[in-house]
Amino acid sequence: MVQKEEDHLKRKKVKNMPKFGKRSKERLKGVDAKLVNVLNELIKIMDVTIIEGLRSEERQKELLAKGATKVKYSKHMEGKAVDLAPYPIDWENRDGFHYMGGMVRGIGKQLGVKIRWGGDWDSDGDVKDNGFDDLVHVELRD
Ligand SMILES: [Zn+2]
Repeated sequence: MVQKEEDHLKRKKVKNMPKFGKRSKERLKGVDAKLVNVLNELIKIMDVTIIEGLRSEERQKELLAKGATKVKYSKHMEGKAVDLAPYPIDWENRDGFHYMGGMVRGIGKQLGVKIRWGGDWDSDGDVKDNGFDDLVHVELRD
């Protein structure tokens, strides 16, 4: 009887834990394993969706032409960057993005993976001195 209840609780716990959806998993393909490890810990704490991982040179050129990026080279092209958002996505929810960015950096620190987040490019722990916000963007630091 007690064992049964424990099993039930275990199952319930697993059920309530956020997991990456099919599309998110697909979008993590080709992304550096160190970065994926960090995100696999993040998803246990908060629900997020992966917007983009690995990016082709072609797509980077398209984004450049559209003015959606200012750079020819991106860490996305090497699988060393991921764009993600708290799920469900609410672009007005700045707090949610900051919560996520801080969490990713903290998990990275614990796992010994150097992470840079687009809400704090200089990684000084201060978001107010960030000139250009790219709140969805996390990347491996060299
Ligand atoms: Zn990005």
